[in-house]
Amino acid sequence: MSQDHPTSPETDTYQDLLQKKSVRLLLVILISIAMPLSLWGLADWTHKKGLDDLRQQLDARMNLYSSNIVSELEKYEYLPIILARDPILKALFIPDATPEQVDRANRHLSAIRETAEVSVVYVMSPRGITLAASNWDEDMSFVGRNFQFRPYFKNAMLGKVGHYFALGTTTKVPGYYLSYPIENGQQIEGVVVVKVSVARLEESWSNSKEEVVVTDNNGVIIISSTEDWKFRTFKPIAKEKRDQLIQSQQYLNSPLAPIESGRENSIDDHTKRLTIRHPQGWDKNAPNWEDVYIRTRKILGTDWNLHYVFRESRLREDAIDSIIIGAFAWLIAILSFLYFMQRRNMINNRLHFQEQHQKTLEQAAIELESRVERRTKALSEANVRLEEEIKERLKAEEDLHMAQDELVQAGKLAALGQMAAGITHEMNQPLTAIRSYADNAKILLERNRLEDTRSNLEQIANLCSRLGKISGQLKVFSRKTPSEKAPISLTKVVTEAINLLSSSAKLEQVQIHNGINDDSIMVLGETIRLEQVLINLLRNALDAMGAQEKAEIWISASTNNRRVSLTIRDNGPGFDEKDMARIFDPFFTTKEVGQGLGLGLSISSRIIQDFGGVLKAHNHKDGGAVFTLELLQAPNG
Ligand code: ADP
Repeated sequence: MSQDHPTSPETDTYQDLLQKKSVRLLLVILISIAMPLSLWGLADWTHKKGLDDLRQQLDARMNLYSSNIVSELEKYEYLPIILARDPILKALFIPDATPEQVDRANRHLSAIRETAEVSVVYVMSPRGITLAASNWDEDMSFVGRNFQFRPYFKNAMLGKVGHYFALGTTTKVPGYYLSYPIENGQQIEGVVVVKVSVARLEESWSNSKEEVVVTDNNGVIIISSTEDWKFRTFKPIAKEKRDQLIQSQQYLNSPLAPIESGRENSIDDHTKRLTIRHPQGWDKNAPNWEDVYIRTRKILGTDWNLHYVFRESRLREDAIDSIIIGAFAWLIAILSFLYFMQRRNMINNRLHFQEQHQKTLEQAAIELESRVERRTKALSEANVRLEEEIKERLKAEEDLHMAQDELVQAGKLAALGQMAAGITHEMNQPLTAIRSYADNAKILLERNRLEDTRSNLEQIANLCSRLGKISGQLKVFSRKTPSEKAPISLTKVVTEAINLLSSSAKLEQVQIHNGINDDSIMVLGETIRLEQVLINLLRNALDAMGAQEKAEIWISASTNNRRVSLTIRDNGPGFDEKDMARIFDPFFTTKEVGQGLGLGLSISSRIIQDFGGVLKAHNHKDGGAVFTLELLQAPNG
């Protein structure tokens, strides 16, 4: 049965163990799949989120940079226009202008440059020769130099405002050129040019530690905090155009080489991801090649573009950070789970233990109950058996009693028979004698022998008194309840009894020694009946010793433990061993017929029993009979 339905705790535990093991294995597999997946997902999400955030950030930054450039350039937009109307400069175009006028114009331009904080301000003739310049007194003075080839000059000569970025051919300083024609009516007399340095912009941008790049309409990098990239391009320029640009000396001798790049993919319309060679000036520990995001937008009001270069490694750092955080979260989750499992196991174990304990207790209780039940049953059975035994015993006792009663009855009948025989014998003899005395008296009376008749009548009277005696003795048996006991003086009773027999003793020459001289000995009893017992015992002693020489009787008493022992010893023949057991039986006598009824000792024994005492007899070692009366001592006073 137990094989079909395994229910033992051992089997359960084994199955649990198997189940737990497979659950654990499953968990480990799940975690080892879920963890890298989730971490990868987290990294990817962080990357994308980072990119989204980046775009917004970059847009904000780029707006700032863009407006910075626009405001910087616009600031000077008005300057050539105003200067074109300046009479001091216009005086340069009066025919035969004096050297004083030229000098005045030079100083004027120098003052304006200083006030406007621009790079150079100069005035050109329609042929492109510089007539006056703010740097007239410097080594690199533009005065006398021809900048006819510059597009800004050409534009101004056409009546347009000229905007142009270039490296100064003389100063080699990059700058933004703004030009405006100096007009005299319909005629263009000359051109005024303001060169604005972009160095200030570059300087402020490089402090921000952001890679911000400005390319001009040719795609050439004109502003960059990375020195390496200056006058290079993100994309290679077509050879023809390149040659043309080199010839124009816009970028002096710069080879206009493209920045070395590898893979390129477009993220959106304005953003692309690019692998570029690591430029000098970036971190020294960085790898040779680096992935960057480049976001591009036009600078409004110009034909320039603003590029923001963002290193992907920064996004990666964020992704790595998120992976680390994610891994930590996993670790904490796993540890928490393990802790939870451990705790749950502990609680389960404890519960299991408690359940086991409970079960054990319950089993013990059941066992105890069944034991108690068994015990109770056994006890009740034993009880029933005992009751039956008691019943049997009672029955047996009853039977015994009945048997005893029967025996007693039989004994009584036997005793009655014996007594009847004794009485008959005792009575018959005197009755027969009375009959014959009466018959004789009748005859003697007829014969008138009065004296003889009297004698016969006396004999009859004697015999009648003898019969009275016999019946008197029998009266004792008719007494049913013992008489009241009272404290009596032992000395007194003994002395009385001796006195009553003293004449007989004297006659039979028996010496009685009364050893009782302590008058204070009091016993419980009745004077007359105790006297009767003593007389009977002394009479027996006298009878036993008969005509023996030196017949003596000793009477003594002792007290012990609230009992008084009275001893009457004679030096007669004592008892026959065979008669010892019977001397207290009623009608047992060794005396001749007519001498004794055999009732004395049985009556005496009964009287002493009535007093709560006991009468015993034994032979003295020196011969003679010894009777001991053990009586209850009465409290003195
Ligand atoms: P009875 O005197 O009529 O024989 P008892 O009952 O007094 O009856 O005595 C029973 C018997 O006990 C006596 O017949 C005698 O044999 C014996 N007996 C009693 N007293 C003595 C004694 N002092 N010495 C020897 N025998 C005794």
